[in-house]
Amino acid sequence: MIYFGIQTMPVKGVFSSNMTCAECGASEFSAFGYCSFSHIYGIPIGVNKSKVVKNIECLSCANIIMDKDISCEYRENISNILFGFRKTWFLYIPMALILSVFLFVITISGAEKNKLSSEERQQIYESQQISYVTTPKEKDIYVVDMNKLNVSSGDDDSYKYGVIRVVKVDSDTVEFAISVPVYKYLSGVNDDMKIKRHLKRHYYLREHAFIKISELKRMKENKTILRVERE
Ligand SMILES: [Zn+2]
Repeated sequence: MIYFGIQTMPVKGVFSSNMTCAECGASEFSAFGYCSFSHIYGIPIGVNKSKVVKNIECLSCANIIMDKDISCEYRENISNILFGFRKTWFLYIPMALILSVFLFVITISGAEKNKLSSEERQQIYESQQISYVTTPKEKDIYVVDMNKLNVSSGDDDSYKYGVIRVVKVDSDTVEFAISVPVYKYLSGVNDDMKIKRHLKRHYYLREHAFIKISELKRMKENKTILRVERE
């Protein structure tokens, strides 16, 4: 069972005012009052609901002025001083903590959700890539490692990134055109593709390669084929 209630708390404060003591004419007082706040199990969950100034006491002659004898004009002011944020700030702490935890949990769970969806996106991309190599289509572009493909023309192994393009698909074999340019870095291929150079006929050698469809998936898995692009 939840124990919920309202608690009263005494508050004291010193203030100076343009109000003057009737006995000695001083204008510095200490004020005393009560404010109440909502709580669950004694933990404050809300701000002071009602504020009562009980009395004020002159700091120089100890003359006590009861609340009812303080004029409305001053009472409001005294109440603001006595029950202002400086005197009651700790009543807000539990709520502030709860809010912080709440915001923290929301932020973390949001980040977790994004992370999942990026994993999901990766999975979707991978399964799409697999579907491209298992059911090849004309004009598909494969970015490949020419060394692993064994069509590297030069002696220098470090130039290995190129493109092969599906020219024709038979029942079990795919005919590929092989790019003339072979690059040291993948960015070379990417740059060509950005400006659509790879779509031009003279980008490819006259000699074609023939690869079994059943081989393509394995070549994708062992990274001979790095990625497939389909329009
Ligand atoms: Zn006085």
